[in-house]
Formats: sequence, C-alpha cells, structure tokens
Amino acid sequence: QRKQAGKIEGAAEVAVGIRKDVDFPNWYTQVLLKGDMLDYYDVSGCYILKPWSYNIWQAIQKFFDGEIQKIGVENCYFPMFVSSRVLNREKDHIEGFAPEVAWVTKAGESDLDEPIAIRPTSETVMYPYYAKWIRSHRDLPLRLNQWNSVVRWEFKNPQPFLRTREFLWQEGHTAHIDHDSASDEVDYILDVYRRIYEELLAVPVIPGVKSENEKFAGGFYTKSVEGYIPTTGRGIQGATSHCLGQNFSKMFDITVEDPEVARKARAEGRQLKEGEGKKFVWQNSWGLSTRTIGVMVMIHGDDQGLVLPPPVASVQVVVVPCGITAKTSPEDAEAIEKGAKAISDRLVKIGVRAKADLREGYTPGWKFNDWEMRGVPIRIEFGPQDLKKQQALCVRRAVNPNQDKEPLPLSQLEEGIPKMLDRIYDLMFNKAKDSFNDSLEVVNDFDRIVKALNEKKVLAIPWCEEVACEKDIKERTENASDGDKDEKQPSQGAKSLCIPNDQARFGKIEHGKTLCVGCKKPAKRFALFGRSY
Ligand code: AMP
Ligand code: ZN
Repeated sequence: QRKQAGKIEGAAEVAVGIRKDVDFPNWYTQVLLKGDMLDYYDVSGCYILKPWSYNIWQAIQKFFDGEIQKIGVENCYFPMFVSSRVLNREKDHIEGFAPEVAWVTKAGESDLDEPIAIRPTSETVMYPYYAKWIRSHRDLPLRLNQWNSVVRWEFKNPQPFLRTREFLWQEGHTAHIDHDSASDEVDYILDVYRRIYEELLAVPVIPGVKSENEKFAGGFYTKSVEGYIPTTGRGIQGATSHCLGQNFSKMFDITVEDPEVARKARAEGRQLKEGEGKKFVWQNSWGLSTRTIGVMVMIHGDDQGLVLPPPVASVQVVVVPCGITAKTSPEDAEAIEKGAKAISDRLVKIGVRAKADLREGYTPGWKFNDWEMRGVPIRIEFGPQDLKKQQALCVRRAVNPNQDKEPLPLSQLEEGIPKMLDRIYDLMFNKAKDSFNDSLEVVNDFDRIVKALNEKKVLAIPWCEEVACEKDIKERTENASDGDKDEKQPSQGAKSLCIPNDQARFGKIEHGKTLCVGCKKPAKRFALFGRSY
C-alpha cells in the first residue's frame, strides 16, 4: 500500500530534473536551489546562503574553533577596509591579488580622497598591529583567527560556494619565534582541515605541499588539502595552510629580541646595543572557506538531490507519519502522529538531531520527496503497520532511497539510530574514497597525460618541481586537449595540485634515475597533476 501511495503522490523519477552525469553544472545549481541551500542574488558572483547551508558552515565552525583553541588560538575581528598604502606594503603579495581587489571610491555623491580597498585577505590589515603588539619573545606565539568574509573580484566563471566574489572563511594569522614553531603549526592546521573534509563532510582529500607556482603570493611555502570531483575529473584545492616565513615580518617590522643573544649578553654582564639581537618573527596564515560545502554537494549529491553526511546534517533523522487515509480511525490517526513525535523526542533526548514532520496539508509522498531533496540522512516512516508492530521503518538517503527500508524495533531506537548514522557516514566516505582512488593514476609517459585527463583522472607523476616545467606541462596539455578554451571556463590544461605528503603510495623515485615526465630532468618527488577548478 505504501509503495502505491509513493507512486501516485510520489517522488519524481529524477527529482532534480537534470541528471548529474548528463549536465553537471546545471545539476549542481538545481540541487542547491531545490535542496534549499542557496538563492541567487543580483550582484554576479554573490549568493545567499540559506539556513540549510549556513547550518553546515556553523557545524564546521564549531569543530574548527574547538581544535584551534587546543593550541591557544583566539578569535578576533579586524575591519574589512584597507588603505592602499597598507595594502601595497608587500610587493609580491599585492601583485598576486591586485587584479581581484575591489575598491570603494565614493561615499554618497563625493569621491573619496583616497580609494579604500576591501580585504581580499587580511595579512596587510593585521600585521601593522602585530608589529605594535609583539614587544617581546614572551608575546610569542601570537595566534589569532577571524571568521569573516573577504572579497575577490574573480573573473573566472563563478560557481556557488566553489568560487564566489564574496566568500565566508576563517583566516588564522600567527607569529612565532622560529621556523620550527611555525612549521609545526602549519602541519597541525592542515590536519584539522583534512579532518573537516574527511570526518565531517565524508570527503577524502590528499594533503601535500604546493609547487612554487601555486604557493601563496609573498609566502615561504604553502600546504594544502586537495580534493577531487569524479563527475568532472577536476581537482579542487580544499584549504591552505601557509608558512609565510619572515617575509612579512621584514616588511612590517615585526621583531622581538632574540632570547639567545640577550642571555649571552647578560652572561657577559652587559646591556644589549641598539638593534643587537633583533629577530624577525616567523609567520603563518591559514584559511578554509565555504567552498567546503560546494565540494561536499558535488561529491555526494545524486539525481534525487542533496545527500548530507550525518556529522553536519542539521536534521539527521526526519520522522514522517504516513498511511493515514479516510478509513483510518481518528484514534489510530492520533496514535500515529503522537508516535512519530515520540520517536523524534526520544532521539533528540540522546543528542540526535531529529524532527517529526507533522505539517498539515502535505502528503507523505510529498514530504518524502522534500526531505530527500534536502538530503536528510535517515527518514523514518511511521504508519499503522509500524504502530502495530512497534517499529520504525528506516530509509537511508545515501543508499538507493526506495530500496532500502529497514525496520527497527522501537525498543532499540536509542541504540540503533546512532549506529545507523555511523554506518551511513562510513558508506559515504568509503564510496568517495574508492572513486578518488580509482581515478588516481601514476603516469610515467607524457603522451599518457592528456588521455588520462580525458578519462577524468588525476595523475601522480615523477616531477622535477621546476616552475618552467609546470608552465610547460600546462601549456602542452592545454593545447593537446580539445574542447572549450574560453577564458572564463576552467582550464583544460593540467596544473600541479600538490606534492603529496604520502609519497610511498605512488611508488619510488630513484634519485638521478627516475626522470620528470614533463622535461626529462631528474625527478624529485611525485606530484599530483590534474585539471582543476
Ligand atoms: P588563499 O588565501 O588563496 O590560500 O585561500 C584560502 C582558501 O579559500 C582556498 O584554499 C580556497 O579553498 C578558498 N577560496 C579561495 N578563493 C575562493 C573563492 N573565490 N570562493 C570560495 N573559496 C575560495
Ligand atoms: Zn620537469
């Protein structure tokens, strides 16, 4: 009977209207709109985050704040405006960002004396104050983070969440006494980013270090976690943890007295001379944006809509009373509604984010479809049969929705549902991991590169790590690829995504013997190359 009801009222064959494997870009926007994640806005490249997606961002914030507090990072807030004088203090840095900086030039009718920039990132906003606040090595490490939005007026094709002109992120900025302290933190943060993708969003990523070409403008080195979208075969930079070295501290004069030099002078019974033992601090900056949400949607979503991983779903279980018809007695109808509510109450009590959908005027079929599009991990159907048998009929979203009904005795609700949520997470993560692994190919021959890219693969290649070679690989693969070469579209050429920390999984580089696939000079390490967003 339930099946029949489903057919009549039921979920459309492809709820989203467009198949993921047929027209991915349109599928993506439809999933976001129908899944209630976002709405369009009348400034191009800007989008409205509705509560359904903002809740996910808040789950990420909560986790991240907990992890950075463990190493003593504090949250704060700096203004969004930067004077051009300050913005221009670091040359390489501003060169990297200049084309994307948005400027305020007017207030009302009058021109400003000097245009004011809107931060594309806050290094130059914050560091003059680091120079002021850091008086002694005892002030180190200084670790601040802010949750804010930044503006980068990108001209590449905007994509909701992945590449937007204003985006939400956190940016951490820290100062350290030496390289060791800074680099330990770079790795710590990188691992927190990995855990956000893997443990919260069920998205596998590969941590590694960026090439010279791809590192942060003005930084020393950049580490990142790199993801992969199987449907398009493109890599995506997940988040970045930069070691800025002493470059910015030199520009902004952020110094402390070197405690070693001071100790020596004391031992010799003399005062330090002016400028003696002045040490420039080591700095890091690290950021993770709402791009995370887009990657999650692209990886897990299907033709019925969103599929949310349980750790971040703001509703993990929805209980829908059903099977109430004209023939159902009022007592039974009431018992079903009450039963549905009781199930959700019991789950809420043990910390499961559950909700009973008691909205009037909507059929159960309509509700099923609605929650399916919004990606709720478990739907519990509760009808006359379930009332009689004292069971909850559980349907898992991540599995083919209508072929996976599993009755759970009500007596086992508190034990069964959290376990089921864990299993759903495992299933989603393993599926995504398998598809990433299946698409990783070690390539030793240049001619194989474009073919593999066309098969939507990500490549691990023995590489020399030279800037010119990366540019050459990009150009040669771009020219060899057919298809769109529109400026605004993502490139068809391959660029380096990262040099993975875990080299062993790709084989062995024999120094002097293994040659770079690009230029045939000796290779240093395996690097991931691919088309990317
Ligand atoms: P960056 O400061 O360039 O290292 O950026 C930090 C992180 O923000 C990157 O790793 C991206 O994941 C993300 N990001 C960069 N640009 C955008 C954008 N236009 N829209 C959304 N996220 C972005
Ligand atoms: Zn090379």
